[in-house]
Amino acid sequence: MVSSRWAGPRARCRSVLAEVIGGVVSISHLTIDTGSCPGCRDQTGCRVWEVIDLKERPDLRSELAGGAWLNLRCDRCGTTRERHHPMLVVHLSPEAPIVLAVSDETLSTDDPFAGHWDLINGTYDALGPRRNDVPGPVMLAPFDVVATAAGRDVAADVTSAGAIAVPGDAEQARRYGVFVDMLRDSRAERRVNLALNRLLTVFAVDDLRAAFDELPELAGPEVRARLAEEVPRAQNDEARLIATARVELVRSATEGRFEEAWERYEERLLQLSRQHVGPRVNDLLDQLRAEQRGDAHRAIELGEEVLELFRYAWTQSAAHVEALMLTAAAYFSASGPDIEDRLDRVIALCQRAIDVIDAGLDDPEEQASMSSERARALLNMGAA
Ligand SMILES: [Zn+2]
Repeated sequence: MVSSRWAGPRARCRSVLAEVIGGVVSISHLTIDTGSCPGCRDQTGCRVWEVIDLKERPDLRSELAGGAWLNLRCDRCGTTRERHHPMLVVHLSPEAPIVLAVSDETLSTDDPFAGHWDLINGTYDALGPRRNDVPGPVMLAPFDVVATAAGRDVAADVTSAGAIAVPGDAEQARRYGVFVDMLRDSRAERRVNLALNRLLTVFAVDDLRAAFDELPELAGPEVRARLAEEVPRAQNDEARLIATARVELVRSATEGRFEEAWERYEERLLQLSRQHVGPRVNDLLDQLRAEQRGDAHRAIELGEEVLELFRYAWTQSAAHVEALMLTAAAYFSASGPDIEDRLDRVIALCQRAIDVIDAGLDDPEEQASMSSERARALLNMGAA
């Protein structure tokens, strides 16, 4: 599965790409709040934040807390109107990792989440492995409550036993109190999700011990029940193997048998790579190469599928770089109206290729047989 095509010409690769790349694709972004101005009937709309990741943009916290964003001002006549477009706030607080802020109008509908799942799921996709720090459930809050929350220590309010004193008017305090109560009610579920996510960042026996120390929920019955549910739900042998490995890992670790748990987990990893992942990567890569001068849209599908696998194994391989570049080329040559999105993807893929090359490629000889060391993240597949 290893090609030397991208292992060598590092200098050429960099010189072409360095010019195209501005930086890492960010989570926070603006959009247009459509609607006509009540003053001049202008239909242009206003630029508003659609997603704000406060870990990525801590500078936006004071802007959020200030609340000026609750009203939009027409560029032409200066008339203000209320914001309508929803906003996803990521990392508002460890106790409110992901919040969908909506208008009161949206909040009063039967399903305030309707129409917003693409935004939520798209943001989770863009977060990649960082999504593990942002466990659900996604919380819903009206705009003004999110403004209040941005200016407060939400975690302290959620975990405090007594009543919380919020400055400002009584109605504002009452609405924020409702949000804090919702966070308290969903806390157990969020902690279990966080614990399950934490399992995905375990790459060695010491990580496993640290995870159990950090999150006592891992040793709790809810986590074991959630993992056990996955086994009968598995759609195929591969998914069943992954689900079973997780159940075994947590069961043994809960009983304090960490070494034994990890040894067995690594055996499962090797089984998984030999029987399932390795053959699948090779097959997809062959198809992707064959589609190089064929159907670009088909090549994009194949490329995205194989790149998903490279997130977990053979990350530092020349084959990974090849898959990134072939997929970027497919996005570049595909036809269709969504050219800006495709170019964004080309840039992101090229940046990843550079990152892989910069981190140093593994020796191709070693890649022939995948060691448990290299494969240890494989069981993360199929999760989330
Ligand atoms: Zn206007």
